[in-house]
Amino acid sequence: MEPIPDASSTAAAEPLVIMGAGLVGSLLALYLARRGHPVQVFERLPDPRQQGLLGGRSINLALSDRGWRGLAGVGVAEDIRQVGIPMYRRVMHDGQGHLTVQPYGQDNQAIYSINRGSLNCTLLDLAEKEPQVQITFGQKLTQLDLPGRRLHLQDVASGHAHDVAYERLFGADGAFSAVRAALQRTDRTDYSQQYLEYGYKELTIAAGPAGAWQLEKNALHIWPRGNFLMIALPNLDGSFNATLFFPYEGDKSFAALQTPAAVASFFAATFPDAVPLMPQLTEEFFDHPTGSLVTIRCFPWAYRDTVLLLGDAAHAIVPFYGQGMNAGFEDCTVLNQLLEQHGEANWDRVMDEFEHQRKPNTDAMADLALYNFVEMRDRVADPRFLLQKKIEGKISAQYPGQWVPLYSRVTFSPDTSYAEAWAAGQRQEAIMQRLMPLIQVEADYEQPAVQALLAKELSTK
Ligand SMILES: Cc1cc2nc3c(=O)[nH]c(=O)nc-3n(C[C@H](O)[C@H](O)[C@H](O)COP(=O)(O)OP(=O)(O)OC[C@H]3O[C@@H](n4cnc5c(N)ncnc54)[C@H](O)[C@@H]3O)c2cc1C
Repeated sequence: MEPIPDASSTAAAEPLVIMGAGLVGSLLALYLARRGHPVQVFERLPDPRQQGLLGGRSINLALSDRGWRGLAGVGVAEDIRQVGIPMYRRVMHDGQGHLTVQPYGQDNQAIYSINRGSLNCTLLDLAEKEPQVQITFGQKLTQLDLPGRRLHLQDVASGHAHDVAYERLFGADGAFSAVRAALQRTDRTDYSQQYLEYGYKELTIAAGPAGAWQLEKNALHIWPRGNFLMIALPNLDGSFNATLFFPYEGDKSFAALQTPAAVASFFAATFPDAVPLMPQLTEEFFDHPTGSLVTIRCFPWAYRDTVLLLGDAAHAIVPFYGQGMNAGFEDCTVLNQLLEQHGEANWDRVMDEFEHQRKPNTDAMADLALYNFVEMRDRVADPRFLLQKKIEGKISAQYPGQWVPLYSRVTFSPDTSYAEAWAAGQRQEAIMQRLMPLIQVEADYEQPAVQALLAKELSTK
């Protein structure tokens, strides 16, 4: 192995160290390099560009406006949009295979299905094009000496341990961050982790002949089933990446599905329109791991002005709003804005403002993600809920600017913070609770009593 230069002595401009070359670490490397810093990145895993993408498995993520803004800040959004698939609507599949459609936003507003592996590899390629970025793979952070500013790293292949000194360190090492673990051992650090009693399993909906999509391509598909659900996002090769979110224990649970026959009969009864499109279902069900779903909150995110957590290391959330990566990319945007404002001479101020600005927003996003779990698995199958969504669409058209649906505020309004979006969403939901008893069918919206109540509610807002 090449000797790894000591990060504190590589250049005259302040060298920075990033732990983790995942989605957030690789984007952050680009931002910091563009600001003129030598950047050294350490990553525990091997280089994904040499390993093949996750063993050939296709795993995709929904990328939306906050994420796009993070990517646009370093000029890479359009390259990535080329390999994304816009999803303009949710398509709900009921137990008989009947479909209901709900647009995500107005006109051409869409969230994008992006392959996680390709996105990460593209960001790594772009980061490494910057001459002052050095990414070293197969290096695991095992210990962190915060006062002494030294990383203890292990070369994963050889087991060889070595130390690296740093001036400033960014912990982008994900939900089970080793950087955060060191911060947790300092005085007055709050930390909580909350697991759902649900796990997830990634499965495949196969491409049709000649790579045709066998479900509507430009949509996120949902099979809501009360206390659990399956979703599917499209891939460029015609397949869909499906994810089953399912209880660990109980009648209908991972624990209850122990044999291929049990899996096949449960899926046939529960997802009858999807099963014929899932020829590898039972193999994948037992071959693919069951992932857990955790919300992690902690504070502070900074240690003096020398260490800062970003991305999942600071705020891991459950995936039901499709915002974890988007929030992490927004971290990069905000950090860059604060550096623009205060300059590198004021890292203490930058880190302090960063954590105080971001924490209420990522806490709100964590709550929103848990709230959306109930909406996706349960409420989207309820005709009253779908009627309410249609009425909200009408209110939004009648009072543009004043009434923006919660989903749009979170997903398509990057100038609105997550905390503002959540507060406004709760105010609007309270109004809907008062309005909906007056509405049985869509046309009732035009009733004078409905219009009068709405006008009154909006004038007292
Ligand atoms: C099922 C599921 C679906 C999701 N869907 C969406 C979605 O649709 N949209 C969305 O926005 N978000 C989604 N997310 C969330 C998203 O995956 C995360 O928010 C995002 O990956 C966070 O990026 P990160 O760089 O902070 O962490 P990670 O992507 O976890 O990267 C952390 C990196 O640090 C490395 N590392 C860890 N420990 C060490 C160590 N000790 N030493 C060195 N390196 C280390 C890891 O190997 C990894 O490469 C989903 C998450 C899940 C679980």
